[in-house]
Amino acid sequence: MMEKEKILISACLVGLNCKYNGKNNKNIKLIELMKEHDLVPVCPEQLGGLPTPRPGAQRRENKVITQEGKDVTKEYQRGAEEVLRLAKELGIKKAILKSRSPSCGVDTIYDGTFANTLVERDGVTAELLRKNGIQVVSSDEYL
Ligand code: SF4
Repeated sequence: MMEKEKILISACLVGLNCKYNGKNNKNIKLIELMKEHDLVPVCPEQLGGLPTPRPGAQRRENKVITQEGKDVTKEYQRGAEEVLRLAKELGIKKAILKSRSPSCGVDTIYDGTFANTLVERDGVTAELLRKNGIQVVSSDEYL
């Protein structure tokens, strides 16, 4: 039997309650994808050591800041590095990531002002994976 392709996926998309507010972003189309692919769920924010629930945060220049002004850059970076390490260990070449998240967002995220304004930028994990040659796909492709 041919081995199924391994794809990283934001854990909240397959129903894990790892979102900042303790909920998930369950997406039935992506759960269906599990039949043909070997989906590997990861939550970089949890892997970076942050609790759930946790304060919402946004990328602002070179940092990640919560709405209350706490600098959580280190945790976001650590989570991204953990996800990259896992991807390399498993030989993963593709990731499907939750849109607009400061970690997982692909191409578009919030601008750091907490005013619902979007900018063209990747989340911290999406950016690191992309830099390392892993294809990143937004969950918006599966709406
Ligand atoms: S960090 Fe990514 S996987 Fe974790 S809850 Fe946010 S969008 Fe989902």
